[in-house]
Amino acid sequence: MSKVWINGKLFDKDDAKISVFDHGLLYGDGVFEGIRIYGGKAFRLDEHIERLYESARHIALEIPLPPERMSQAVLDTIRANAKIDGYIRLVVTRGAGTLGLDPKRCSNPQIIVIVDDIALYSAESYERGLSIVTSSIIRNHPNALNARIKSLNYLNNILAKIEAVRAGCQEAIMLNHNGEVAECTADNLFLVKRGILRTPHLVAGILEGITRNAVIELARAAQITVQEMALTRHDIYSADECFLTGTAAEVAPIVECDGRLIGNGKPGPITRQLREQFHRLARQ
Ligand code: PMP
Repeated sequence: MSKVWINGKLFDKDDAKISVFDHGLLYGDGVFEGIRIYGGKAFRLDEHIERLYESARHIALEIPLPPERMSQAVLDTIRANAKIDGYIRLVVTRGAGTLGLDPKRCSNPQIIVIVDDIALYSAESYERGLSIVTSSIIRNHPNALNARIKSLNYLNNILAKIEAVRAGCQEAIMLNHNGEVAECTADNLFLVKRGILRTPHLVAGILEGITRNAVIELARAAQITVQEMALTRHDIYSADECFLTGTAAEVAPIVECDGRLIGNGKPGPITRQLREQFHRLARQ
């Protein structure tokens, strides 16, 4: 049975429990990370830990553990589960409190590390490419709930995901409050136009994906021009190639959006190149 790390102790999965009064449950008050394990190593662990602490800082949640000990907790949990390839879910909740909103009335934040198997898109999805739709649900306004916070409140994304699934798709594009392309429900978005790689700028109101950053680095190293800029649906429909990035998805081609074929309707050469390079980087 898999082992879950909670506040410094390992529990069998079935015994891993926290209070029903935890504000993580009652209000989605907390932050998290999703981290990939390749060959027994946590990919870009430092970046994930840094993003976790930045998210926590934004919601004024003081994590009762220094970042180095948090990293060690992740590594210990990987080892305790003897996991070679998999996925880590790192969660920090506000802690148990009263039924009011006030975070000050919550006791100690709960730190949870779960190790699980990775659920990928099918091999066929990568071979043929994904078909996606634009959701009617816009991404949270940055002044309402900034998407840079990887918070436990994912309803914005879940509402869009429901639309994707109803449309028979695995992902959906979310626009921002200005009608520009923001990101997908759990992935960042890229397109290729005349050899140039384009992706929405962080100010579009998106999560700063670790995979997104890795792909930008790989592209620049391969002398591909990268532009972070405002993009609209027109840019997606008229792109030569399109793909999404995420810890679970890695680099996944998109070949159709809202019933329009993108490019020739097949995964393009730059998408394939970056997917292979990302594979190599992750598994090196
Ligand atoms: N956007 C959102 C909303 C996400 O939830 C995720 C996945 N956590 C991403 C983008 C991709 O980020 P990363 O590459 O760090 O997994």
